[in-house]
Amino acid sequence: MTELKKEQKIEPPKETVSMYKNYGAPVLFVIIVPIILFYILKKSTTVSQNIFPNWISLGVLLVFLLWGYGSLRLFPQNFEGPKNIDGSVPKYQGNGFRFWFVSVIVVVVVCLKWKEVPEMVTKNFIPIIMTFNIFGLLFVGYLYFIGRKEYWGKEEDDKKGYSWLFRFYRGLEFHPRIGGVDIKQLTNCRFGMIFWQVIIIIFAFFSYYSSGFNVAMWVTVVLQTIYIAKFFWWETGYFNTLDITLDRAGYYICWGCLVFLPAFYTFTCYYLANNPSMISGLVGGVILLLGCWFIWMNYRVDKEKEDFKANPDCKIWGKKAAFINCAPLEKGHTPKLADIKEEGKKPSKLLVSGWWGKSRHMNYTYEIGLSGCWSAVGAPVGIAPFAYLGYIIALLVHRIYRDEDKCRVKYGKYWDEYCKRVPARLIPGIF
Ligand code: NDP
Repeated sequence: MTELKKEQKIEPPKETVSMYKNYGAPVLFVIIVPIILFYILKKSTTVSQNIFPNWISLGVLLVFLLWGYGSLRLFPQNFEGPKNIDGSVPKYQGNGFRFWFVSVIVVVVVCLKWKEVPEMVTKNFIPIIMTFNIFGLLFVGYLYFIGRKEYWGKEEDDKKGYSWLFRFYRGLEFHPRIGGVDIKQLTNCRFGMIFWQVIIIIFAFFSYYSSGFNVAMWVTVVLQTIYIAKFFWWETGYFNTLDITLDRAGYYICWGCLVFLPAFYTFTCYYLANNPSMISGLVGGVILLLGCWFIWMNYRVDKEKEDFKANPDCKIWGKKAAFINCAPLEKGHTPKLADIKEEGKKPSKLLVSGWWGKSRHMNYTYEIGLSGCWSAVGAPVGIAPFAYLGYIIALLVHRIYRDEDKCRVKYGKYWDEYCKRVPARLIPGIF
């Protein structure tokens, strides 16, 4: 009897999942966010006559799916991503920049040769997003369906009592493959990101053909184009980020890249195509230069970390890089974030030189500055062109906390030491 009591005592307490996590957040993102999104798109348009899917929107979906899929299958340039916590080594294609370059040339030639295309696409933008939404839901549903019985970490999920809705929303597998391609590379890079690039060029041509050259529109398109080009230049580096290593292929990341990214990251240009903003060449030039500076600084911060990871003896700002040497975590360390607990067993280093010694996410600070620039061109037509800026601030601040959770688990007391040495999260001396 006493033995039994003892056994009962040492049983680990059952973790309870909050109603918000299990149902609230998924309902918010699966139902409420799309409703708000379509409401905003409809409210902002002066040219779109349609809402519901049609043959044009279906054609656009197919073209982008085939174009992205073809880029991964037809011109292979094999690239292995970092080993995942589930033990797999994801396989990608490293031909992102060429893909971006060819896509830009093709869309510019199409817009110059067939002048009716920009108008046709702009007028059908809401049906296009509606079609992406239907496809995105079906696609994510399919991913859930094929993975639901067996996936890495299922026992843990069952133990925690995660609902099916939460699992659908978060995703099941980290790196599912369909038709020989990595799903997250297809949805994130070869669909969402390239659609962003193509559609803003189409909006710019629409604006040009309907009301002549508009400084605001072209400044924002040039800034966003440089930013997207930079993304494709560094696409293989993207495979080390939270989107790929921590997020599973589910509604959050896949629907996000199939629907939310095409609809909302493009919003400033969409709004300006519908509501032209007038700024002078001088103001446009200043915003363009400032935006380019922010892009360059964002790149510099990312590059410092990349150089340091490749060679910890590198020089930063002319001096040998200073860092915190993190030994593998001792046995008593009990990680909470089950997904990355294995990480803490490896030795690693935290850079405290250069920008990484000024704030813990200076790259996000510059990213926000850049988004501020590409929104500011729309100031004469109100606050709507700043919608993306508000969103990116919320996203990146939330991401800082997600990343800190991850790093605290991975680096333990060394992360706390880093936070003491570099107290600012975003802006030195302020936050
Ligand atoms: P970071 O590039 O800041 O990477 C964070 C990771 O870097 C941590 O998890 C940790 O990973 C490592 N790290 C953190 N601090 C240090 C340090 N001091 N020394 C060494 N390693 C450190 O974040 P993201 O991956 O989110 O962002 C990459 C780029 O993408 C940025 O330019 C960002 O602005 C942009 N971005 C854009 C978004 C958009 O929607 N527009 C969304 C998100 C990002 P570990 O040690 O495990 O390698």
